[in-house]
Amino acid sequence: MLKNPSEAIIFSKLYNVPPEDMLFLDFSLSGVKVKFPYARVRFKFIPENRPYFKISFQRNIKEYFFALPTNSFSIYQIENNYLKAGKEKIGKVESLSNDTCDFSYPRRRGTVLNLNPVSKSLCHGCKFCHTVIQDAKDREENLQVEAGLKEFIKNWLKKQQKPDLSHLIQVAIVTGCFGNEERLLSWLKMARKILNEFNFSGELFYYGSEITQKESLEEIEKLKPFGLCISLECFEKRTEILKFTKARLSIEDIKKILERAKKKGIRTNFSYILGIEPLKIINEGFRELAPYINSFPVINVFQLHQRQEDLRCKEALSIDYYIKARKMIEKIFEDKKITPRVWENYRSLWYLNFAKEQLTDIRTP
Ligand code: SF4
Repeated sequence: MLKNPSEAIIFSKLYNVPPEDMLFLDFSLSGVKVKFPYARVRFKFIPENRPYFKISFQRNIKEYFFALPTNSFSIYQIENNYLKAGKEKIGKVESLSNDTCDFSYPRRRGTVLNLNPVSKSLCHGCKFCHTVIQDAKDREENLQVEAGLKEFIKNWLKKQQKPDLSHLIQVAIVTGCFGNEERLLSWLKMARKILNEFNFSGELFYYGSEITQKESLEEIEKLKPFGLCISLECFEKRTEILKFTKARLSIEDIKKILERAKKKGIRTNFSYILGIEPLKIINEGFRELAPYINSFPVINVFQLHQRQEDLRCKEALSIDYYIKARKMIEKIFEDKKITPRVWENYRSLWYLNFAKEQLTDIRTP
């Protein structure tokens, strides 16, 4: 990984990638040293005027958001409201807090609402998952029933000082598994009805692996605008790495589901954890899946926590792996006119540019 922040400029020239993207990738890979006893922290980040933030300053992008593992061996530390490498101040840190496992949180400056109606902190089984080490704050509300969901929305609107949900572009359901496709479907139908009662007309987005049946997609079609992100996560050793609910779907099954969903006018993509499989597998897998999606995949850089060391593949011990993966994936999607959305992912490979294209949009919650 990087020895110091200025090394981001060297890699940037070598690979024609913004130094900011190199540095932010390194935050994910290295984690951050903090005084708090938390496994993860999150914070708003305001860059200092440094040569490695030249593009960010030129484009007037002044705010980012990160959620990182804590690591006492990292070259990055947070001290007195600054993120530093040694004595060098990299940027200001605001709203530093424990990265707890929450039942709801905003994205895109409050225009996207994430809901986790089924506790993720109680969901176990995927080897890369960090919800087990996060402090749980996702068990107090009962979003699974109509009354609980309504109550939550009313309180949320009060806090946001908004009259209704018409300002939201998306409500995302990112959840520990429902355990039953029927239950998930009936919850999604209930959620669309309630959300619409509060004037929501945006996309209902489901991120998981529990929509599998042809009949379910017919039901989902009635809930459009709808986004389906299948939590694919890895191409090989699926039964070893993933929870049963995810592993039982083969790559062939996933292709079929995505194809059917796409034909029904549903936005489709998949999620992938980058850092556990060799580049060759990534290249083949992404090429195989690319025709089945109409939206850019959610590619999360694998952030290492304690006792997960064996999961990172050998190639991924060097930062070159991530740059090569980036270039490879850019090549696969360059003609498809789909790009990463900066508000969707705080541990991405792309922050300022995707190939030659500049990435815009709001980056903070
Ligand atoms: S399904 Fe896997 S990744 Fe998702 S919360 Fe459960 S264990 Fe974690």
